Amino acid sequence: MTPEEFRQHGHAVIDWIADYRARLETLPVRSRSQPGEIRAALPAAPPDAAEPFEAILADLDRLVVPGLSQWQHPRFFGYFPSNSLLASVLGDFVSSGLGVIGLAWQSSPALTEVEEVVTDWLRQMVGLSAAWSGVIQDTASTSTLVALLSARERSTAYGLARGGLQAETAPLVVYVSAHSHSSVEKAALLAGFGRDNVRVVAHDERHAMRPEALATAIAADVAAGRKPCAVVATCGSTATTAIDPVAAIAALAQQHGLWLHVDAAMAGSAMILPECRWMWDGIEGADSLVLNPHKWLGATFDCSVYFVRDAEHLVRVMSTHPSYLQTAADGQVRNYRDWGLPLGRRFRALKLWFLIREQGVAGLQARLRRDMGHARWLEGQVAQTPGWRLLAPLTLQTLCVRHEPPGQEGEALDRHTQAWAERINASGLAYLTPAQLDGRWMVRVSIGAEATELRHVQQLWAAMRAQVDAITDPPST
Ligand SMILES: *Cc1c(COP(=O)(O)O)cnc(C)c1O
Repeated sequence: MTPEEFRQHGHAVIDWIADYRARLETLPVRSRSQPGEIRAALPAAPPDAAEPFEAILADLDRLVVPGLSQWQHPRFFGYFPSNSLLASVLGDFVSSGLGVIGLAWQSSPALTEVEEVVTDWLRQMVGLSAAWSGVIQDTASTSTLVALLSARERSTAYGLARGGLQAETAPLVVYVSAHSHSSVEKAALLAGFGRDNVRVVAHDERHAMRPEALATAIAADVAAGRKPCAVVATCGSTATTAIDPVAAIAALAQQHGLWLHVDAAMAGSAMILPECRWMWDGIEGADSLVLNPHKWLGATFDCSVYFVRDAEHLVRVMSTHPSYLQTAADGQVRNYRDWGLPLGRRFRALKLWFLIREQGVAGLQARLRRDMGHARWLEGQVAQTPGWRLLAPLTLQTLCVRHEPPGQEGEALDRHTQAWAERINASGLAYLTPAQLDGRWMVRVSIGAEATELRHVQQLWAAMRAQVDAITDPPST
């Protein structure tokens, strides 16, 4: 494909994406694809001869779109908002179009320096002090792994340069909550702590970690000859948006020399709103934190920002210095390969840079406030409608709801919950995620797709009541 052919096909691709976004509302939100159906429709072997570009594009409509659950749909209320604002999409295109790689600063100076500036913009946007430095990682899972590797190395005085964890005499312990994201346990296991040394600290009735329980657990481990190493606090848990008390946890972490990592992957976007910053009160006492602009904020996936206070420590843990990567500028610049796991990096900063500039901080704030308003509207409906119940306080934009017919509990209630949620999802009208909370099923309604307006939330609420009615008093036939 020559640049001229690219111009032509590229315009067609942009038109195709614009049309797709414009017609999203007409598509079923959850894919109706059956397992293996898409694979079976594709040739098993690669084409020997080149195909016309139009044939590739046609297969997007024929095969790909029907095989997708539509995350950008205005009635997508599943998982979490993963907004992909079109300005950010264009930034991502440019990154691909440039086709440059960051290995060292010298290999693409702008790639590094735009990332430095844009992560510093984000730092200011979320109200963090200038003590923090940011780096873009692919996902929160990677950011949390990097945090726990950093914690491990601080506790062992850089044991990786000697015998590693295998040479340690006392086992290192990580403290988490039952409501920590699954990526936290995965990171702890991959960082070598071992499941026996991942301590699940008790939580309160709002599903937030109890600092007294953390203190007790630390004391018990010290008494048993183990070495407390790190604690992961969650600001905005996945199931219920629970808020662990960061200030109290930070005080304990400081007292016992623990690394404090704050997982604000979802709720971190909301910190651009000053009225939400109480949620991570005490954050300056943490060592690291992660927030995902690829969720609610609107940067197209993948874009997770990892902030640390001691960048020198991070570099010491992550750096390697093969001769072919050394340059004369090394002492004066950031080499982001030393801030995480991969050597090569994409120009991910562009999608965040495009997003923030095209929206403005005020534009981003207004959208998040709009979404929180939509969630409060639904909260009000649920609260005033008999039979319906909110299972956790509404913190941001995710509601945990259940419909509880009189006299129904236990497994019968679980079946009822899953039945009405499945009817909505199967109808294609909207997409919700059922999840377990305290051993029972409930339904999460996560509001905040860019295209979602109040009327879409109203349509969802009407569908929720209609589906419940349909299964509680089936029409006589
Ligand atoms: C989404 C989420 C994660 C995982 O994010 P990835 O970027 O997909 O790894 C971790 N923690 C919390 C609280 C989340 O909301």
